[in-house]
Amino acid sequence: MAWPSWLPLRENLRPLSPYGAPQVPARASLNTNENPYSPSSALQKAITDAVAKVASDLNRYPDRDATVLRTKLADYINEQSATKFSADNVWAANGSNEIIQSIFLAFAEGSVLGFTPSYSMHPLIAKVTGTAWIDGKRNADFSLNTADAVAEIQKYKPVLTFITTPNNPTGGAVTIEAIQMLADAAKSVGGLLVVDEAYAEFSQEISAVTLIANNPHVIVIRTMSKAFAFAGARVGYLVSDAAVKDAMMIVRLPYHLSALTQAAAEVAIDHRAELLGGVSTLIAARSTVVQALHDLGLTTIPSSANFVLFTGFKQDAPQLWAALLEKGVLIRDVGLSGYLRVTIGNEAENNLFISALKELI
Ligand SMILES: *Cc1c(COP(=O)(O)O)cnc(C)c1O
Repeated sequence: MAWPSWLPLRENLRPLSPYGAPQVPARASLNTNENPYSPSSALQKAITDAVAKVASDLNRYPDRDATVLRTKLADYINEQSATKFSADNVWAANGSNEIIQSIFLAFAEGSVLGFTPSYSMHPLIAKVTGTAWIDGKRNADFSLNTADAVAEIQKYKPVLTFITTPNNPTGGAVTIEAIQMLADAAKSVGGLLVVDEAYAEFSQEISAVTLIANNPHVIVIRTMSKAFAFAGARVGYLVSDAAVKDAMMIVRLPYHLSALTQAAAEVAIDHRAELLGGVSTLIAARSTVVQALHDLGLTTIPSSANFVLFTGFKQDAPQLWAALLEKGVLIRDVGLSGYLRVTIGNEAENNLFISALKELI
């Protein structure tokens, strides 16, 4: 970006442009890994009622610690993973991106390691907070090489090591045994292992939350934006040892999570059976889309998430991306040469994607 010379923008920010997928209207929006199913009218009403209730108190600040919400999130995790967490093990914020930023603000003194390609916000937030980012490497098929990753942790001694499982944009998941090995390596260099599990509900692997009791240096990031079908409300959280949560309370902004957000999110968690009801449908649809891509002669990276990375088309990625958009299908060019990522949508959206693709390749 061409910044005006009078603007004393920090030197390390001058080469950057704002992050974000293009927000353009399309018949099928399959670019940001949202859940395609909107809340039922009963749930919409329950949320509206809860918000109406707090509206009379909007002259007051919200619960600074979001204790009710954090307790509900802990209960949800315990239910999924047979753990014994309480609100002391959970911190919530405006999307897991805010959680990631808070982790950097609290801990990132020294260097931070991640394994590319992965979630691009990890290195971007490193840059914005002035932290040195080290790009670890993956196998050629994008899977994480545990032995190499352990060696890189031992070599660079990062204060934070980030892994994303299932990984975005590639979709592959890391086994709990491999995560334990990375956790051991991170511990041996005095660092923390941060496991971004934004897509955990779509995966069969055991969650890293089960490691926390014996590995207090493991932090797990979760979000309500993907499986929970609640992206518009902006609620992300972490699960951790209580000491990590206490550190989050040092760097958080006062009253960061609005009373409206807290009220809506509490209702959403109470209705989790409905909101998470789409997950199995999306997993089944993922197989259908993968099969259709294979039938078109394309290659896919095995995915444990609600999206698929594919390759094998003749155009370059930006070209095919634009041609699909012309046909009303918005997917994601993640900047990997020869690859595009498609989010699994509802049946009509998936069919539109496949039929548009069929005409183009
Ligand atoms: C989508 C995503 C997030 C961010 O989600 P929020 O909406 O900010 O909660 C975090 N990590 C990964 C890997 C994601 O794909």
